[in-house]
Amino acid sequence: MTNHLFALIRDGISDPAKPVIETPDGRSHSYADLIARSGAYAAALVAAGVAPGDRVAVQVEKSAEVIFLYLGVVRAGAVFLPLNTAYTPAEIGYFLGDAEPAVFVCDPARREALAGAASGVGRVWTLDAAGAGSAAAAADAQDGTAFADVARGPEDLAAILYTSGTTGRSKGAMLSHDNLASNARVMVDVWRFTADDVLIHALPVFHTHGLFVATNTVLASGGTMLFLPRLDPKTILALMPRATAMMGVPTFYTRLLKEPGLTREAAKAIRLFTSGSAPLLAETHRDWQARTGHAILERYGMTETNMSTSNPYDGDRVAGTVGFPLPGVSLRVVDPDSGAELGPDEVGMIEVKGANVFKGYWRMPDKTAAEFRPDGFFITGDLGKVDGAGYVHIVGRGKDLIISGGFNVYPKEVETEIDGLPGIVESAVIGLPHPDFGEAVTAVVVGGEGAPAEAAVVAALEGRLAKFKCPKRVLFVDELPRNTMGKVQKNVLREQFAGLFGG
Ligand code: AMP
Repeated sequence: MTNHLFALIRDGISDPAKPVIETPDGRSHSYADLIARSGAYAAALVAAGVAPGDRVAVQVEKSAEVIFLYLGVVRAGAVFLPLNTAYTPAEIGYFLGDAEPAVFVCDPARREALAGAASGVGRVWTLDAAGAGSAAAAADAQDGTAFADVARGPEDLAAILYTSGTTGRSKGAMLSHDNLASNARVMVDVWRFTADDVLIHALPVFHTHGLFVATNTVLASGGTMLFLPRLDPKTILALMPRATAMMGVPTFYTRLLKEPGLTREAAKAIRLFTSGSAPLLAETHRDWQARTGHAILERYGMTETNMSTSNPYDGDRVAGTVGFPLPGVSLRVVDPDSGAELGPDEVGMIEVKGANVFKGYWRMPDKTAAEFRPDGFFITGDLGKVDGAGYVHIVGRGKDLIISGGFNVYPKEVETEIDGLPGIVESAVIGLPHPDFGEAVTAVVVGGEGAPAEAAVVAALEGRLAKFKCPKRVLFVDELPRNTMGKVQKNVLREQFAGLFGG
């Protein structure tokens, strides 16, 4: 037996001398370096007593070295557990207590602050953004080229990613070798990745989008990544002539659109722009196409399912939709209560099944059981519909659904109307406790120049939406709270304005 996931990457290498990762400090790492360095990390982990199935938790800044460490963990047969760099010591304490890793790798600058959180972990190593630290030193002491990959089958775990968890405790999604390998293969295929591709990679690598969707797809095709530590529109523009693809969250596109240098000419070397992790406004899609000539390819997935749908590479990339289910993925929309399958254009719960779907939540058998149907479909928690042409539309998270006076209000429908008003930049529609209605539809709005006042917004909507969908209040803010993946944090808004109606 081979190491199922790493075998895919090995097989994808066309030329060992080809660069796999280039970083802004001018360093270039080849596929031969990737093999040697990930082998050295794997050997160091095995020498430290890491056994197959052991977790290796990592909270470090983005660098090429983290990718080699990730692959080293996989090759050692262990389970890679990346943690958001924004997590506080208290949060890290929860994750380490829950996952019980054999090794925890952190930034040397945080080693002291994390001492308490990591007190139960047998071995703590360090790694900084420049690739220095005790983890790197442990790898330096090994001959990586000699490492024999630990055999792992398709069903063995490769990674645990904690979900962002906006309600309750974060849950660890267990991802198998085949969850990741099969999805990477599909993405290479449907997005036409080859060894000639050069991807602008400005996403974090502790999240599924940057770590698996972007990195695994490029590694499986033998291409190259230009690593940026974070979204930096000017640097991205400067890199575009050298690149063939970029994967981003919607914020990448809205920020780049503010750059006067974004033109057809600037983007002419690129063959593919993708967006996901949060809804891309139809307006952004249109503006991008007008400025660059490219239709952004929007796709949909989540930590638990990897990629589930994608707009087509050839064919219409329809703004406001996330395209078709990927090959091997079954997707259906059901009535959330009865589980009965709904017809075209009917809004309900999106459920998916396929090799992409995770193995369950780490040490939470009850939560896992509650989120799967008896026939194996995973209940995503996203509400949406499939239109007559087969395109999937996401309406929002189920928990963001507003029930006002007994009627269901889908926030996206109201947001689309508000965003279409002159002078409005964007909006988030939430339900707040209300003594009469149960929940009151409330719009939190970012206004631009010439934005209408509250009463004018309500008046404009009354002509377009049924009365029960119209916001009871419209609150203006400077910006909407977002997490690192660009998702609007409606839970933060709900907490902030909880007492508005005295409910
Ligand atoms: P995460 O597990 O952090 O990747 O978050 C997954 C969630 O992000 C999904 O369940 C959706 O609610 C949302 N999401 C991902 N892609 C899209 C998209 N293209 N449009 C709308 N929502 C999306």
